[in-house]
Amino acid sequence: MKIAIYPGTFDPITNGHLDIIERAIKVFDIVIVTIARNSTKNPLFSDKERLEMIREVVKGMKQVEVDSFDGLLVNYAKKRNATAVLRGLRAISDFEYEFALALTNRKLNDSLETVFLMPSERYTYLNSTIVREIARLGGDVSDFVPPIVKKAFDKKFKTKK
Ligand code: ADP
Repeated sequence: MKIAIYPGTFDPITNGHLDIIERAIKVFDIVIVTIARNSTKNPLFSDKERLEMIREVVKGMKQVEVDSFDGLLVNYAKKRNATAVLRGLRAISDFEYEFALALTNRKLNDSLETVFLMPSERYTYLNSTIVREIARLGGDVSDFVPPIVKKAFDKKFKTKK
């Protein structure tokens, strides 16, 4: 069984993340999409809200599990018997940070490989920060996120519209 973990903030999950998950399940037997709870970011959606959204979005995908973790990624990977960490590379701007992260994780655990996947070019400009900003300002995010996430945005910002 080839198990990969796909860690991130997923605040919220976008069509770009989903594109990466769909590619990953062609290569790995099990993909664990996991929310990093100890992120220094201050998320708009709670852990629970983000978990629920991801669960709903991957509902039909039998190879995908949804989870969250605290602490070091390498420890979590070991616990879950994962041999790979998945990350998405959109543009050169992602490279520097991802490069540092991958090599640091390799220092911490040499047997855990970081695997980079590139999304469809349609999603290369897409990130959760921009999507949150559009939604906050009342713009239409339906091209960028799954319908359940659009609903969650509508609910979150309805009092401000
Ligand atoms: P993080 O806070 O760790 O960057 P994110 O949820 O923003 O968490 O992203 C998790 C992973 O998904 C990262 O590897 C990021 O590069 C990737 N990712 C985010 N948006 C996209 C996208 N539109 N296309 C491909 N990969 C993406």
